[in-house]
Amino acid sequence: MAKNSSLTSLVYTGAMTLLLGGIFLPTLQAEVGKPQELAPGVWFHEGDLARRSHCNNGWIVFQDYVLVIDANFPSGAEDVLPKIRAITTLPIRFAFDTHAHGDHAYGNRTFVEAGATIVAHAGVLEEMKKFETGFFGDKPGRWEDLAKNRPDVAKSKLSPPTLIFTRDLRFEDRSHLVELRHLGVAHTRGDGFAWLPKERILFTGDACVNGPYNYMGDGNSTEWLKTLEAARALKPLKVCPGHGLMGGPEVLDQQIEFFTTLRDEVKRRIDDGKKPAEIREAIPSIKATIQENAKIANYVGGMFTGQVEKVYLDLVGEPLTAAYLPTASELQTLAATRSAKTPDRFAGFADRKP
Ligand SMILES: [Zn+2]
Repeated sequence: MAKNSSLTSLVYTGAMTLLLGGIFLPTLQAEVGKPQELAPGVWFHEGDLARRSHCNNGWIVFQDYVLVIDANFPSGAEDVLPKIRAITTLPIRFAFDTHAHGDHAYGNRTFVEAGATIVAHAGVLEEMKKFETGFFGDKPGRWEDLAKNRPDVAKSKLSPPTLIFTRDLRFEDRSHLVELRHLGVAHTRGDGFAWLPKERILFTGDACVNGPYNYMGDGNSTEWLKTLEAARALKPLKVCPGHGLMGGPEVLDQQIEFFTTLRDEVKRRIDDGKKPAEIREAIPSIKATIQENAKIANYVGGMFTGQVEKVYLDLVGEPLTAAYLPTASELQTLAATRSAKTPDRFAGFADRKP
């Protein structure tokens, strides 16, 4: 999730709480806040998304230290730290940002103060340099925007990752093997997965979510699908998404099916020669088609119109409506995909097979 468009301001003003109401809330609440041991020493924690916009966390207890997956918001970090401490007294030596968004990386400072080094794919740092202009440049950026509404952000400070990998990074001892991997552009241009090949457990960050939580503004849906296929090729038995309930491989299948259906519905209309206004008018019918599919119905939420707009932008290269202002990163993505001769910074990573 991110800032700088009408779509995302919904997320950050807390309106998402309302959007998440109805049938999804009780399901979400069922596991929220309770650490779940998926395999010996491998933990999943579903964050309080509805009330505090927290992401999901994971942590792996190695022989001598703990590796945490995602730093959450500062208040999310404060929420999980004592839960980790209750499980083990080993030091939390590393926290892995799956991507640069506030709900996954703004708690970095909290983990640094707890003794951890922040680790991330190079793209996370690149995204921060792009959007965190208050830290890296001069004018206020995303952090400063969010700090206006979040006291936990206001009283912390950005702590970018300092241990950077460009392809993958392996944590291994006799107890565990964890591979941090960049599988391509997805939710952002710097998504990382944590893969435990022995237990076949995959932590996806927001490259895969379970529910109506797909903020698409910082990624590219064409690349995103390829990245999800690369993740599926790992054949995980357990999938821990960035938001929503963890589950089996069906979580990845559903995310892929949602994007595929959404893109097919928009593309079919483009191929039929429909004008932008007609496609815009067809949004309720596209929505109905997806809602009729029980497997992916719960991916439809308050961000749906923005998702259609983004898919159109990814497919056509122009905004669907004048009212929809592409975010800076959407424009950047667009520029990268348009000039195929100019290699995108992360094209090499995106093309890489797992
Ligand atoms: Zn998120």
